[in-house]
Amino acid sequence: MTRLAVLALLLAVIVVLFRSFVRGNASGTPATEMVQDPNCQTFVPKTEAVRQSVGGRELYFCSRKCAEEYQLKNGTASGGQTGKDA
Ligand SMILES: [Zn+2]
Repeated sequence: MTRLAVLALLLAVIVVLFRSFVRGNASGTPATEMVQDPNCQTFVPKTEAVRQSVGGRELYFCSRKCAEEYQLKNGTASGGQTGKDA
């Protein structure tokens, strides 16, 4: 019985959240699009992501560090070694 009540409450919260999300989307302002960092698989808001074109593709990263790491891993970084590890 109590479990059901909690479940119903949770559902109500989800519905309210979803409604406000949809409303925000319909009012003209684009909802924050989430993009996935291909380096660490973290989702970040597109507006806050670090955009980097890798191999002719636009990719989004959570940080500059990830962008650099990804480019290093994919061998598309220009400039060569940083000489961090000797
Ligand atoms: Zn990252």
